[in-house]
Amino acid sequence: MRAEIIAVGTELLLGQIANTNAQYLSQKLAEIGIGVYFHTVVGDNTERLLQTIRHAASRSDLIIFTGGLGPTQDDLTKETVAAHIGVGLETNQPAMATIEAFFTQRNMVMTENNRKQALVIEGSHVFANDFGMAPGMGISHAGSTFVLLPGPPSELYPMVERYVMPYLTQLLPDKQVFHSRVLRFYGIGESALEAQLLDLIEKQENPTIAPYAKEFEVTLRITARAATIEEAEALILPVEQEIRGRLGQYIYATGESSLHEVWVEELKRRQETVACAESCTGGSLASLITMVPGSSAVYNGGIVCYTNEVKHRFLDVPEEVLQTDGAVSEKTALILAENVREKFGTTYGLSVTGVAGPDPSEGKPVGLVYIGIAAEGLPTVVKELRLAGKRHAIVKRAAKYALFYALQ
Ligand code: ATP
Ligand code: MG
Repeated sequence: MRAEIIAVGTELLLGQIANTNAQYLSQKLAEIGIGVYFHTVVGDNTERLLQTIRHAASRSDLIIFTGGLGPTQDDLTKETVAAHIGVGLETNQPAMATIEAFFTQRNMVMTENNRKQALVIEGSHVFANDFGMAPGMGISHAGSTFVLLPGPPSELYPMVERYVMPYLTQLLPDKQVFHSRVLRFYGIGESALEAQLLDLIEKQENPTIAPYAKEFEVTLRITARAATIEEAEALILPVEQEIRGRLGQYIYATGESSLHEVWVEELKRRQETVACAESCTGGSLASLITMVPGSSAVYNGGIVCYTNEVKHRFLDVPEEVLQTDGAVSEKTALILAENVREKFGTTYGLSVTGVAGPDPSEGKPVGLVYIGIAAEGLPTVVKELRLAGKRHAIVKRAAKYALFYALQ
């Protein structure tokens, strides 16, 4: 099956936003073995969109559109696809109910153009929008299937996961299942990981192995194609075991949750709590943790101890330690972790102190970071890291490392 993706929106052509929807959709299609042959971006213009649709229909079995399903004048994707197919639009009642409820709940008057969002192409299969108002739709015509999706990623991603993937899978000629397992790594870069798995990656066919890096974490998706999920599992298992044998110490979880989410869930399960003393991360660690709903069960609070004075006054780091060893040192990290734990009365105390750059500090190089992990009833551990990258990357990586070590 040949697929292509058409992103609609003048803001994409102007460079105001990047076409991340196409990137995401290509990844999702690859997971189920659908090859994507073209990415096109076209502005909000009926004539040029129509030309693009004709061209796509002449060469592709599956054409996925993103954007232009909203209420405004420049949103014209479904109107134009309907015109190409030669059908009209009809009101989708569930979508209309969602839109009306949205306005009633907020005590707002609904403007007439919002009704437009409940219109779908006549005879199409409708995908509910659980995080917005405009539904998506799929329709087959003259040998091509057209799938129309909303532009905002917060609406598109869940719609694809919940409704579009099953719809596409049943379009596939041989009714095979695609099943995957995601292994999540921390503490190893994408290229180092690839290098260690090169032989497996090179001979991959079924299952396929796809590493990718996102938000300073590396994940590896192992996808198998088979008649049943059980058979796919049986293909995945030996590959997974081989990878675990080589890189097991870097794997912190399987599945779609990121490090901070896994971490909060794990601490909740163990009924443990944490407090943080953050120097170079300046609150990033607390921010990561508190991004997770329900984190108040595990996170008591913390101190951003950016200056030596604060390290001394609020966390009792002796002045002589700050002078002789320095703020960025094993000893300081140790004292910060122990004292923050004691002051907050938590199971763990985490500390991060380091040089985020761009300039060295205390004669210490950019990227040198110490992470202290104090735990009730255990000796305090301090890890030394030499992180690469710019200031932003060093801060984000250091915060995630603190979580990764505390999980072990
Ligand atoms: P809305 O109801 O919000 O108008 P829509 O389906 O009409 O949604 P657009 O108006 O085309 O979609 O885009 C809305 C927003 O969605 C854009 O401002 C942008 O933030 C995001 N967006 C649109 N297309 C893409 C894309 N290809 N990649 C990433 N983000 C996108
Ligand atoms: Mg719009």
